[in-house]
Order: sequence, then structure tokens, then C-alpha cells
Amino acid sequence: MAVRRWFGLALLAGLLCVLYGCGKNTQNSAGSAYSGSAGQADFFGDTAAGLIDPPLEDQSSDTSGQIQRLAGVRICLDPGHGVTTASAQEPISPLSQETKAAYVSGASGSSQTEEAVNLAVAQLTRIELEALGAQVVMTRQSHEATVSNIERAQIANDAGVDLCIRIHADGSEDSTVSGMSMQVPAGELLGTPEIEQPSARAAEIILEEVTVATGAYNRGLVQRSDLTGFNWSEVPCVLLEMGFLSNPQDDAKLATEQYRQQIASGIVSGVCRWIEGEKSEP
Ligand SMILES: [Zn+2]
Repeated sequence: MAVRRWFGLALLAGLLCVLYGCGKNTQNSAGSAYSGSAGQADFFGDTAAGLIDPPLEDQSSDTSGQIQRLAGVRICLDPGHGVTTASAQEPISPLSQETKAAYVSGASGSSQTEEAVNLAVAQLTRIELEALGAQVVMTRQSHEATVSNIERAQIANDAGVDLCIRIHADGSEDSTVSGMSMQVPAGELLGTPEIEQPSARAAEIILEEVTVATGAYNRGLVQRSDLTGFNWSEVPCVLLEMGFLSNPQDDAKLATEQYRQQIASGIVSGVCRWIEGEKSEP
């Protein structure tokens, strides 16, 4: 009897795994189920760092009927900030001795912190990207996280992603200021100047898609030469400012699941359009 009962429980557990995905949202899920092509499993299959949550199965064999528009595409999602007590300085560029704070706490709304909004949108975006066959690496998966801006760039670099999307929300002393913008790498301190053009193309397309999906005001692209995360990036990298937590309307919208989902869907539409454009480049 005991054996039969155990077998029944094992069957039930297996079924639940299939339905909900074993360890889908847990860090350090044991072993690696990822079975990417040769030479690609190094970073995405390494769960030791606690940052990688490999897809359950080879996405190219997806049988759900969903079009795998992003099969073979690697994306880093970098939800800005994190809860930490750490304090340190780090050089703003591999080409400079100047330093900036490695950990910054971010903006605040009336009932939410920026890091929490950033993480929530990143997680929704990740689900959509993976559904389309993309491989996603996250710079953090929990509120408590001590990840410097150089470390964030290095996670994307080491994973060899096609694009790193940094997800942030703004704050301003003027509570009437609202809308979305994209910051892009530029300037003399870029360690890898080649990322400037593809980053700008990605930023423009993704911002367009996100503002269409949400109805938010498009504040356009902002070139930044002083961001550590850009200057250390060796892969195309963009930073979305999803709205102003200092603006009551933006803050209220960003607190809703529906609006966060619209942002995620807009990001993914933009990634699809950008990737297809890059592939068709001569
Ligand atoms: Zn921020």
C-alpha cells in the first residue's frame, strides 16, 4: 500500500511539474535542464551564480504551435537597483579612473519603490520572451540584490547576449513631468564604441512599441556618456525609463498589473522588430 501511495504522489508531483514548470521561478534550480547548442551552455547552463534560470527544455522543439520568433536570440534583462546595504565606488568606464556609486537606491512612488516595479516588469517581459523562444538572463531575480553596475554589464557580456535591456522608472522634483524615454550609450568613455549604433536602433524601436502599447508620452532617446552600465557593456544595451514615479498618474498606472503587462508586451514587440531588422542588415 505504502509503495502504491508513494507512486501516486510521485505521479501527481510530476503532473504539477508539467503544469507549472519545475523550479521555474526558483533560483539555483538543481542541475541544468538547458540543452543549447554546443558551446552555448557555458553561461546559460551555469546556475551556480544563482542568476540563471534555464529554460526547461530546448525551445526549438516547442510543440505548442506558438511561433518561435525569437528562437536563438539571447536577451539580458536588467531590473535596475535592488535592496542592499552595500556601499562602494566603481570606475564609470574601463577607460576612466573616475568613479561613481556602485549601488543606488532608485526612485520612489506613493506606494511602491522603483526596484520593485523594475523587477515586476522584467519578470513579465521574461515570460513573454521565453514564450517566443528567446534565452533570457536576468541580472537579479529578487528584491534583495547586491549587483553593481559593472557586474550587471558583465553578466550580459559573459552571456554574449544580442541585447541588454535595463529597466528603470524615473523621478523628478517636478511632479507634472511624465512619460517614457530611452537612454542609450554614447560618448568617449564607451569601452565598446561599436554598440552605439545597434543600441540606438533598438532603443528607438522598443520605445516606439512600448509607448504605442501603453499610450504613454514618448519623450524620446537620451544619449548618456556617464552611465557605468553602458560604458562597460560589450553588447548592445538600452535603458528604458518606464515613467515618473514622482508623477501621480504615471505612479498609479505603474502600480497596476495591466499596465506592467502592457509595457512587457511592448518591449517584446520592439525586440522582435529590432531583431528582424538587424538580421536583414546587409
Ligand atoms: Zn533607476
